Amino acid sequence: MTADRIVVVGAGVAGLATALRLAPLPVTLVTAAPLGEDTATAWAQGGIAAAIGADDAPALHAADTLAAGAGLSDAGIAGIVAGAGPGLVDWLVGLGLAFDRGPDGALALGLEAAHSRRRIVKAGGDATGAAVLRTLARAAAACPSITVTVGRATALAQDGEGRVTGLVLRTDRGALDLPARAVVLATGGLGGLYRATTNPAGAVGAGLALAARAGAVLRDVEFVQFHPTAIALRTDGPLPLATEALRGEGAILVDAAGGRVMAGIAGAELAPRDVVARAIARRTGRGEAVFLDARRIDVARRFPTVAALCRGAGLDPAVSPIPVRPAAHYHMGGIRVDGCGRSTLANLWACGEVAATGLHGANRLASNSLLEAMAFAVRIAADIRGMDAPAAGAGRGP
Ligand SMILES: Cc1cc2nc3c(=O)[nH]c(=O)nc-3n(C[C@H](O)[C@H](O)[C@H](O)COP(=O)(O)OP(=O)(O)OC[C@H]3O[C@@H](n4cnc5c(N)ncnc54)[C@H](O)[C@@H]3O)c2cc1C
Repeated sequence: MTADRIVVVGAGVAGLATALRLAPLPVTLVTAAPLGEDTATAWAQGGIAAAIGADDAPALHAADTLAAGAGLSDAGIAGIVAGAGPGLVDWLVGLGLAFDRGPDGALALGLEAAHSRRRIVKAGGDATGAAVLRTLARAAAACPSITVTVGRATALAQDGEGRVTGLVLRTDRGALDLPARAVVLATGGLGGLYRATTNPAGAVGAGLALAARAGAVLRDVEFVQFHPTAIALRTDGPLPLATEALRGEGAILVDAAGGRVMAGIAGAELAPRDVVARAIARRTGRGEAVFLDARRIDVARRFPTVAALCRGAGLDPAVSPIPVRPAAHYHMGGIRVDGCGRSTLANLWACGEVAATGLHGANRLASNSLLEAMAFAVRIAADIRGMDAPAAGAGRGP
């Protein structure tokens, strides 16, 4: 056991990207489930927002992010993350991710709610998250500086001054102490706490709880985003998702009589998520059913993940509208971090959905979270790399 190790907790996009960006520094990657399992990352359907189109610019992407955030986003962070988008897409391409492309070979760009331009980069139609996870997990498995340990983090170790000095975890072989000079929490969100959710069951805010118990400051914890169109085929979650990109491509929200649910509402089907979710919840709260009518789209070809989820429930979206309801989807709040991903506790960083960077404000713009995690992974790795070399045998603050 060495106190100069770096521990990254979580193996979704945030944890994997951070561990890879830290290479060749040795990293112990702790994950509750084996690599590739039980992550929200693998379920991401829509894609990655990046200002790549000829009519687009990072400043426009940042402006859309701020507008969706309802006045509570940090403009500096929005500029940094939007500016990083095109380079991060190139990074994934360099790692071997085959994004969807048009006939001319250029990246195909999708449209999602509250984006003023087509800027959603996708893979496999609606299987982007699975492709991102596969690509990063493969790169991590091949990276000699990353060691994977399967176990559930149960506490942060601290010294008398409150500085984080390591991680305590539970493994098949019992409790394990991992002394560390830097711990990065990348444990994902908390949607799994809700009865109706799009999140994996393991997304229960574990990292948030660890940080709070250690005394880290949390931010915007009350801001939970509800996705408007979880597929309402069960009464409780996890519920499969009908991606927003379906509405981007023309699917409409209707009631049982075929009337438009979004009639008279600014932005209609492409209004920000909270607006669409509230419009649907007003109907479902009265006991009415709401459907996503995607019959005008070739769902089987363009959205194979959604088609398979529907088929699994005995529904053919080419013939029948898809029953939908809002469900807990994304936690904007989290561990308060600065522009380098540092928490308020020495030696503790947070990345991905568990962190609150200020990007999302009160409402995340669609497809900004995979992007945010990868953008902050770079910044966290640079910050940790910049720490003084630790004295032998002693955990040191940054
Ligand atoms: C259905 C769905 C669709 C989405 N679509 C999109 C999209 O199109 N575009 C987009 O940008 N975002 C999308 N999102 C949001 C995005 O997927 C998540 O915000 C992002 O993937 C979170 O990544 P993460 O690495 O922070 O967490 P996760 O991917 O959830 O990974 C968390 C990791 O932490 C581990 N872990 C948790 N607790 C512990 C513990 N105590 N000890 C050890 N390990 C632990 C887990 O095992 C896992 O490895 C979607 C989310 C969902 C649920």
